[in-house]
Amino acid sequence: MNKVAFHTLGCKVNSYETEAIWNLFKQNGYERVDFEHDVADVYVINTCTVTNTGDKKSRQVIRRAIRRNPEAIVAVTGCYAQTSPKEIAEIPGVDIVVGTQGRDRLLEYVAQIRGERTPINAVGNIMKTREFEELDVPNFTDRTRASLKIQEGCNNFCTFCIIPWARGLMRSRKPESVIEQAEKLVAEGYLEIVLTGIHTGGYGEDLEDYNLAKLLVELEQVEGLQRIRISSIEASQITDEVVAVIDRSEKICRHLHVPLQAGDDDVLKRMRRKYTTAEFMDRIRKVRKALPGVAITTDVIVGFPGETEEQFVTGYNFIKELGFAELHVFPYSMRTGTPAARMEDQVDEEVKKYRVAKLIELNQQLSVKYAQPFIGDVLEIIPERPYKEDPTSGKLMGYSDNYLNVVFEGTEDMIGKICKVCLDEVDAEYCTGTFVRVLEALPTGMESKGKAV
Ligand code: SF4
Repeated sequence: MNKVAFHTLGCKVNSYETEAIWNLFKQNGYERVDFEHDVADVYVINTCTVTNTGDKKSRQVIRRAIRRNPEAIVAVTGCYAQTSPKEIAEIPGVDIVVGTQGRDRLLEYVAQIRGERTPINAVGNIMKTREFEELDVPNFTDRTRASLKIQEGCNNFCTFCIIPWARGLMRSRKPESVIEQAEKLVAEGYLEIVLTGIHTGGYGEDLEDYNLAKLLVELEQVEGLQRIRISSIEASQITDEVVAVIDRSEKICRHLHVPLQAGDDDVLKRMRRKYTTAEFMDRIRKVRKALPGVAITTDVIVGFPGETEEQFVTGYNFIKELGFAELHVFPYSMRTGTPAARMEDQVDEEVKKYRVAKLIELNQQLSVKYAQPFIGDVLEIIPERPYKEDPTSGKLMGYSDNYLNVVFEGTEDMIGKICKVCLDEVDAEYCTGTFVRVLEALPTGMESKGKAV
């Protein structure tokens, strides 16, 4: 049996696509082996280019695969492959370069290389691509939560971001294909689906008379599906229609990840983000009214070119006032090819470090403050795995619908099921709770989400 090994760099979309590519190999009788410890016949490296470091790491991994088995076929895909195919093709030992489109032909290319060892560069112009790449992912190697990719690309061109050049413009998956995939995942036993994409909340912008709100309504009807999580949505995409759907829904999780990036209007403008802090606050207030207790998590970049101490403090105060449940803090990292990398007033690394530390400290306060009111409530947790800090403790770890990371005593057969757990204590890292019972899958509407019972 032929053996294939994968290495994935970068974001969740890449992990998703690796699963899709693995699915293609599996259907063709391949066995999946470990990238680090086993020798494979084919290596697939799914690369990242979000920062300059992403490129460097991707090249290191490619070289590692070539060294491990110089006879193997080495295929490189993903964002770095899309933006710099020549750079990758020049690495001796690389056989196939395919970007962020056309991965369905990967096995064809592998067969071609077996016949005649002439390297293949299959990277096309992503800016001209208008079709969503349809790849089936009916199950996942090691997750209890299933991702479902609903769109590709982004039309925003924020000044710090290279992604539109790596992923192309916005393309939505056809609604019937999304629903079909959701049904397959439910049939595989997944209770929660995470809707994912490069610019997930923009779903439908390229479709006629269809949008994210309508898709959510249709997904709500999928029998057996218990939870729908939206991986990320821009403030400007939280329309009144989306808020109304969230309000009526029994399945949409009380968790929205809404990237803020900066809490100061001047910085937002230079980032070319499409909202002001006042508009952001207004959208969040509406969501909170529709979904009381909702966890709003976010991404923040500190040290964007030209960010003064005063602007940082304005942003800090805005973040505090808004009361996010969790912050993902990133120091600004220069990405060659983007407008921000050419801006003159780059911020000193030491200043960035200080600002990151301040926000990490704020994150700890905010996450405890968000979780505290839920102490004593019985939440619905889907345990994902044994508690990894102490795997022999008989404890499991999983997320509640409002994204609290909860550890509680339980047995491994509970993994992937919805468990009722009483929240006892909260902490910035994780919360602890007491197991109450396993919830048998009930028809929609018979159990309310995450409320005290
Ligand atoms: S919205 Fe901005 S940050 Fe997000 S993918 Fe698009 S260009 Fe990049």
